[in-house]
Amino acid sequence: MDESAEAKNDHIGILNLQGGIVEHQDHMMRLGVACVPVRRKQDLVGLAGLIIPGGESTCLGRLIRNAGLDREICEAYEEGLQLWGTCAGAILLAQHVNNDAPHLGLIDITISRNAFGSQLASFHEEIRIPELAAESIPLTFIRAPKITKVGSDVTALGRIDDCIIAAETENILVTVFHPELTSSLAFHRHFAHKCGLTTDCDGKSSLIDPHWSPYSWTRQYQQR
Ligand code: GLN
Repeated sequence: MDESAEAKNDHIGILNLQGGIVEHQDHMMRLGVACVPVRRKQDLVGLAGLIIPGGESTCLGRLIRNAGLDREICEAYEEGLQLWGTCAGAILLAQHVNNDAPHLGLIDITISRNAFGSQLASFHEEIRIPELAAESIPLTFIRAPKITKVGSDVTALGRIDDCIIAAETENILVTVFHPELTSSLAFHRHFAHKCGLTTDCDGKSSLIDPHWSPYSWTRQYQQR
């Protein structure tokens, strides 16, 4: 990424402390959107948006605080940075965490950790969200939380039974599943659009990438 690109807020960052990172980068690459790893506060400069990936929220929260990034992320958000939390990332962004303390506390949702059961109860589902894609969107849930309540400024984007699995405000997106582990680019395109970015898939109604495989992310290591 050259300096002129950084100055234009035309790329997305992925928090690179713990959890799924290269999988998100691979999805953004498929959309033609630059996505850079973020470990230090100077990495936040010039970002249009930041993805906080899935992983383990207690661990990730501690690593963010130790790196001094909690205050920096909140400040960048106040200045217009778009945020997307997937799974543990959604827990980090929630204002209310049942039976736990909040971390960044930036979106008015109440979330319950591990609410679908243990790691062994991980599952795959498909839902339709016509605003995001014409076809059903595949979703992978791994020891996922449930969003049990949203504030009046939060829009629920998707539900399974009685729980909300994706929600957003104007500047924050939260998903309790892992879109980066499926062939669908729908949520990544949606986040790029929230960040004010165009993608190579704009105007397409199908966001399923037929060239994606569960091992696609390894090509980033093969290229090194
Ligand atoms: N169960 C994890 C937590 O509570 C989240 C799991 C995930 O990100 N896939 O932090």
